[in-house]
Amino acid sequence: MTSDVADIVIAGAGPVGLMCAYLGQLCGLRVVIADETDGPLKVGRADALNARTLQLLELADLFAELYPLGKTCNTSSVWADGKFLSHQSSWWDELEGCFHKHFLMLGQSYLENLLDGKLSKMSARVKRSTTIVNMELNKAGCLTTFSNGEKIQSRYLIGADGSRSFVRHHFQIPFKIIRPQIIWAVIDGIIDSDFPKVPEIIVFQGETSDVAWIPREGDIDRFYIRMDIKDFTLEEAINKINHAIKPHTLRFKEIVWFSQFSVKESVAEKFFVHDRIFLAGDACHIHSVNGGQGLNTGLADAFNLMWKLNRVINFGVPDKLLQSYENERKPIAQSVIESSGELVRSTKYSQTGTHAQDYVNIIQKRSGNITGMGIRYGDEGLCGSRLFDLEIFNGVVKTRLYSLLDYAKFTLLIFADDMVDLNLPKFVKVIQIHSNKYQTSYWTNSSQYVNQAVLVRPDSYIEAVTPVDLEWPMLFQQIIDRI
Ligand SMILES: Cc1cc2nc3c(=O)[nH]c(=O)nc-3n(C[C@H](O)[C@H](O)[C@H](O)COP(=O)(O)OP(=O)(O)OC[C@H]3O[C@@H](n4cnc5c(N)ncnc54)[C@H](O)[C@@H]3O)c2cc1C
Repeated sequence: MTSDVADIVIAGAGPVGLMCAYLGQLCGLRVVIADETDGPLKVGRADALNARTLQLLELADLFAELYPLGKTCNTSSVWADGKFLSHQSSWWDELEGCFHKHFLMLGQSYLENLLDGKLSKMSARVKRSTTIVNMELNKAGCLTTFSNGEKIQSRYLIGADGSRSFVRHHFQIPFKIIRPQIIWAVIDGIIDSDFPKVPEIIVFQGETSDVAWIPREGDIDRFYIRMDIKDFTLEEAINKINHAIKPHTLRFKEIVWFSQFSVKESVAEKFFVHDRIFLAGDACHIHSVNGGQGLNTGLADAFNLMWKLNRVINFGVPDKLLQSYENERKPIAQSVIESSGELVRSTKYSQTGTHAQDYVNIIQKRSGNITGMGIRYGDEGLCGSRLFDLEIFNGVVKTRLYSLLDYAKFTLLIFADDMVDLNLPKFVKVIQIHSNKYQTSYWTNSSQYVNQAVLVRPDSYIEAVTPVDLEWPMLFQQIIDRI
């Protein structure tokens, strides 16, 4: 079959591959995406989008459609051996620079279906029931062969093909898996219980068993049940729930999804090989579900990667920019493995008898990962930190900074009153934000960036910042010349 040409081929249309394809479309890249399944996920798997993901969804104009479908949740309580122990939400309440200080409890299938539908409307329909069977590197990039015999030549290829990644195996990227022998049952269903149903995560802890009750969209509730054995039945898992919530009882009126989750942990040695091939999502990092970080971390990979490919492919910047994907994302993946690993081990091993309280303390310590808001690139200072969202006005109309950002562009925010005339390329969107309300354009009188010029990357991390003084336009011109 003849070979077609694309900028990027994406192996796998799980949430991460779909997000890569969608962001690629927003940037005007020619993307081909294929998946061996016949359609997006219908039930199960990841259940929560964290606060940082909600901000990223806003950048990509997806937030407004997804947000009303889920349930917000930022509190959790811990019960141990039948007694209420603690109630906490401080790490959410203390978040700064965001307006959605909570998880959005929403099944992975909603995101997949939304993205799959958007790609179809953008004439970039996922090639379904199509497996990637071979890849050959060549001077122009990579020649991919699909199960239907079709071949596509692309400049780059992204392996977003999940934890058993064919791409990772094909390019022999080491992925050493640790198996801590912790096995969970996962049940989604509609329940009937005399335990009061509340919109918060409830963890029931005992030295021999843990159960986490997670609120979900619609009528559904999710239960994670630590089983310790590999072979168990649905009935045995439900019995464990009833044991944990004693003296209350619970029954399922309907089971929507029942699965087993054996904890495995690994980070791929490389996220970028042969200057052509990327790994993203579960293909390059897997870990326990504790802290709900798998899907969120994978989506952040997509947001980190696609703007860089846009800059290289559409704007001709040197491709050394692409190495920063691995440099930035691999340490984050490592820290996610550590935080989810610490959490899941604490459910099994307690030396002090303070099992339940230990879990809460770890969540508090690792809250930057769990909320997603502690993720930054670089050690300190404003550069490399996430841009804080803030309320601004356009004349008398209230809006928010994040709603003005555009994933296909850098944004130069000028928090100053004097008008500035800069000759900037079209990949930089300029927004001047005045400090007083007498303006007919954007203004705010409460910003930590006052009298500063802030250059923001497409994924809403700060690239550069400088005080607005006589020198700054020249300085910024120089910065923009090098990005
Ligand atoms: C059984 C299970 C239960 C889970 N439960 C939870 C949970 O309870 N909570 C939670 O937070 N997270 C859970 N996760 C993790 C979460 O679902 C993942 O982090 C998330 O799906 C990662 O998305 P991804 O796109 O990277 O990979 P995936 O969602 O795995 O998508 C990879 C895609 O690639 C396709 N593919 C693979 N090979 C090929 C090929 N050669 N050619 C074409 N297509 C291919 C697959 O069909 C799949 O659609 C669970 C994962 C699994 C497997």
